[in-house]
Amino acid sequence: MIGGGLAGSEAAWQIAQHAIPVVLHEMRPVRTTDAHKTDGLAELVCSNSFRSDDRENNAVGLLHAEMRRLGSLIMRCGDAHQVPAGGALAVDRDGFAAAVTAAIEENPLIEVRREEIALPPEDWDKVIIATGPLTSAALADFVRTLTGEDALAFFDAIAPIVHRDSIDMSVAWFQSRYDKVGPAGDGADYINCPLDRAQYEAFIDALLAGDKTEFKEWEATTPYFDGCLPIEIMAARGRETLRFGPMKPVGLIDPRSRRRAHAVVQLRQDNALGSLFNIVGFQTKLKYGEQTRIFRMIPGLEKAEFARLGGLHRNTFINSPRLLDARLHLKARPALRFAGQITGVEGYVESAAIGLLAGRFIAAERHGQVPDAPPSTTALGALLAHITGGADAKTFQPMNINFGLLPPMPELAGGRKGRSTRKPALATRALADLERWLAATRLAA
Ligand SMILES: Cc1cc2nc3c(=O)[nH]c(=O)nc-3n(C[C@H](O)[C@H](O)[C@H](O)COP(=O)(O)OP(=O)(O)OC[C@H]3O[C@@H](n4cnc5c(N)ncnc54)[C@H](O)[C@@H]3O)c2cc1C
Repeated sequence: MIGGGLAGSEAAWQIAQHAIPVVLHEMRPVRTTDAHKTDGLAELVCSNSFRSDDRENNAVGLLHAEMRRLGSLIMRCGDAHQVPAGGALAVDRDGFAAAVTAAIEENPLIEVRREEIALPPEDWDKVIIATGPLTSAALADFVRTLTGEDALAFFDAIAPIVHRDSIDMSVAWFQSRYDKVGPAGDGADYINCPLDRAQYEAFIDALLAGDKTEFKEWEATTPYFDGCLPIEIMAARGRETLRFGPMKPVGLIDPRSRRRAHAVVQLRQDNALGSLFNIVGFQTKLKYGEQTRIFRMIPGLEKAEFARLGGLHRNTFINSPRLLDARLHLKARPALRFAGQITGVEGYVESAAIGLLAGRFIAAERHGQVPDAPPSTTALGALLAHITGGADAKTFQPMNINFGLLPPMPELAGGRKGRSTRKPALATRALADLERWLAATRLAA
């Protein structure tokens, strides 16, 4: 196990819970990262929140519930060190990390070695790399040689993702620029939202005035990735810059006005199910509240529900849909698995969830079983399916868990009533399917 963060600690725990010995290599405190402050395992580098604990109405709450059911160490320690935070599960970060560290260090089947692994030796037959967004440079170089020059991204430019069913299609319309038909499309692949001159000017004003997250000192030296400038920085370069960039209206005709709009915001399908669309070119460092307020100024997005908001910080992740198989093996070298944020999931809980699955897969293999994954109707299974195939490899960006990743339930009522019952119904199905899967699987919870 390389990396003792959220994912690595959970994976090591899961392996040991199934009576398999494991060595966990964590480089801190011998070598540290730009964000970690302690030598504790599972240190939370930023907020202390595991986000909503509402399993019925929030997909991350559902993920909490599923992980608890599978004996997650991260959830057990999070629950034990909870601090008041409304419906969210927030934790005392020091108490939490100390509890995870103690559980790992005291487990007789886990040996913790404080060392950096730059190159996993060839004779290690089962390895999980869970070195996170701040993977050490030497290991990142090794991963890059295995995966190809373009596979590791040293930036984190994420554009917001919107639930398809919250977009007002009486305003927006489907069309590809110049009706271009691609290999997988039909000439109407994008959702387009039109802005007239006044709407565009008001939008630019809001972007310029919007409250931005400041760069940390060490982030300021990280260059922006080519073609990934935050939109507010583009807007600051000139009021027309966005109209010649991601908001250009050429090749698109609004079917209602039968004219070209002054500017157009495009959304591109983000998952195989077609339930999520990302706003093209809208990577941003605007604060979350500001993003919601300002992006809802866009015609058609007035009631947009965001599966993920945009952000920009240095990050290391691999193109999992292209590089990993369904059980998280690196296709090019199957002795290696990846887990955690480096696989392109986003967030503490999601990272730990992928660690949990990677740990279970190895434990199953060591017991001579074929590892099975939870069904894609569960939050765990849906997240795994997204990073190992459901997401488009060409546009792959880090992803939070959200209900849009779960297959829909066509039998549910539509409209306002349907929307209020949709999430609880998906959650109920997920937990029931998890139980059925657990009853059938040979590896215990
Ligand atoms: C600045 C910043 C702020 C963030 N804020 C949030 C937030 O508020 N909320 C949220 O949910 N997520 C946040 N994230 C994302 C967060 O990092 C992940 O959600 C989570 O920590 C990922 O878990 P992980 O186990 O994959 O990686 P990590 O928790 O980072 O663990 C990786 C571990 O691997 C070790 N390591 C690295 N290279 C090596 C090596 N070569 N050999 C041995 N050990 C190595 C590191 O020391 C580290 O302990 C933030 C990320 C960054 C960079």
